[in-house]
Amino acid sequence: MEENNKPVVHLISRPENMLKTIYTAARTCYSADMPINIYNGTDDEEKMLKLIERVVGSGHYSVIEHIQVTFAISNVSRACTHQLVRHRHMSFSQKSQRYVKEKGQFDYLIPPTIANNEELKSKFINFMGEISKQYQELVDAGIPAEDARSVLPNACATSIVASLNLRELIHIANLRLCTRAQYEIRMMVKAMCDELIKVEPWLKPYLVPKCERLGFCDEDKSCGRKPKLNQ
Ligand SMILES: Cc1cc2nc3c(=O)[nH]c(=O)nc-3n(C[C@H](O)[C@H](O)[C@H](O)COP(=O)(O)OP(=O)(O)OC[C@H]3O[C@@H](n4cnc5c(N)ncnc54)[C@H](O)[C@@H]3O)c2cc1C
Repeated sequence: MEENNKPVVHLISRPENMLKTIYTAARTCYSADMPINIYNGTDDEEKMLKLIERVVGSGHYSVIEHIQVTFAISNVSRACTHQLVRHRHMSFSQKSQRYVKEKGQFDYLIPPTIANNEELKSKFINFMGEISKQYQELVDAGIPAEDARSVLPNACATSIVASLNLRELIHIANLRLCTRAQYEIRMMVKAMCDELIKVEPWLKPYLVPKCERLGFCDEDKSCGRKPKLNQ
């Protein structure tokens, strides 16, 4: 069992020259100069940021698609990654339940709503134990792992390597940092954003829930962080 319910997220790959790459892409659209001259022509961070903010702020998002980042993620549930893999502009490599057999008690995540209730938590843990025994019985009887896994729950812990471009990360942050998103994917996406902001602090205003960028809430049920549009 995972005692610590926090996702473990590391940024394992990113371009060193992120700002310069985006600046070059954006400037190329409005310049007679060759992109390589634009690239070599400036190191002025303020100037680069100003152009990027103007271009991205006006919805010219293709310029940030040049930036690809990769995260190594573990200690998250299959329920969480099932939501992540719905995003279509990402690449994934996930621990396989076909090729990696569970040995003994499989790792799992307990949602805090259950973990905070001693009685329900204890029932939950017992049930995970029962599932584990059932899984083992199937495997011991020669059932392939790809079929035995049918009894495993959404709570099973998993690992995934996820790559995406900056446009998609901003989109995902806008959707999944919203309080309407499920708590675990919200924590995981927050950890992904925090990892990137550590090395690229200028991204902070973009990696926010959508209401921060819209200035209003477009959800049916609002958490009250921003007023609804009709207010
Ligand atoms: C709070 C919340 C609740 C949810 N509840 C449910 C639910 O109950 N059931 C359910 O099935 N899903 C649910 N989802 C998942 C949701 O429906 C989307 O599948 C998921 O959020 C991916 O979002 P997306 O399509 O915007 O983004 P991505 O797949 O990341 O794509 C990014 C953007 O690219 C464009 N795009 C991508 N593919 C296409 C395409 N084929 N055609 C045109 N444009 C495209 C769109 O503009 C899209 O917004 C929920 C998501 C959230 C955030």
